Amino acid sequence: IVANATAKLSKLKNNQPPPTTEIKIETKRKLTSGEIKMCQLVFKDAVDYSKVWIHIGGYLHSATGNAMSPAGEIYLPKKAYDRNPDFSLAPGEDRHWFIHEMTHIWQFQLGTPNAWYGLKQLCKGGYTSLVDSADSGADELKAYDTDILGRDAGKKFNEFNFEQQGRLVEFWFDACYLQEVRPGRLHHQRSLKLLGHIERILRDFILNPYDKSLLPRS
Ligand SMILES: [Zn+2]
Repeated sequence: IVANATAKLSKLKNNQPPPTTEIKIETKRKLTSGEIKMCQLVFKDAVDYSKVWIHIGGYLHSATGNAMSPAGEIYLPKKAYDRNPDFSLAPGEDRHWFIHEMTHIWQFQLGTPNAWYGLKQLCKGGYTSLVDSADSGADELKAYDTDILGRDAGKKFNEFNFEQQGRLVEFWFDACYLQEVRPGRLHHQRSLKLLGHIERILRDFILNPYDKSLLPRS
């Protein structure tokens, strides 16, 4: 926009034609084939990948550095968008982060009101209060906090809130598929430690991600 305005100004000033170089700024993209393959390891074809856009933008996450996926599309902070032209080639952190966001896409496409649940979390302080999380460690946002060996023992997948579902799926994905991607990562180590328990919670989801009864209720 700035480049275009400057060109127009210079045309007005000097009565010269504007430079012909166009600056194209991409603000959204579709999934790459590598990303789709990676997602199919988790969601099979329960997600219509052709409908998914990844954008730069939003407002909440530009402050927090988080992504947002309220309505079937992913909104990333600009830095994260720029460094990830293909999440299937990204460092471990960004890969499991992407799978977390894709869990929201799965939820949304199967009928979860993600924006409404997100708003309710926001009002409850889920995105602003930090807790010591048994599963994710210190300084975890309350919305994502799980304690699957303690408070959450025996819970079914659909009894976790929509953010906790994203966490569980990203842990499972990290443990199963990112063993070669800097395995010393703390997130990977936590994932491995929890794998047996998470697999039990995710069993029905892994077998049949088409099942709408697995969707979160909050
Ligand atoms: Zn999330």
